[in-house]
Amino acid sequence: MIDISTATATTLYLCLTIGFLLVVWLMEHYSSTKKKIILAKEELLVCEFCHFAYLADRSKQVTQCPQCLSYNKDNLYKPKRK
Ligand SMILES: [Zn+2]
Repeated sequence: MIDISTATATTLYLCLTIGFLLVVWLMEHYSSTKKKIILAKEELLVCEFCHFAYLADRSKQVTQCPQCLSYNKDNLYKPKRK
């Protein structure tokens, strides 16, 4: 059997614990810096009639407000399409 003193056992335990926490922290740090850029398929629109903000598909020219069910063609808050 290996004879170690209480101080050596405590030091070994603390070093292993701190080393484990350091590895977990470094893994979390490097995984959080590699964020993927996801382009949104929907954009925020504001209804011209009831001013309700909603998300709609970018490809649609005319969108329907989910609250008042009216159709919005040219939205003032929407960036101009080229
Ligand atoms: Zn509306």
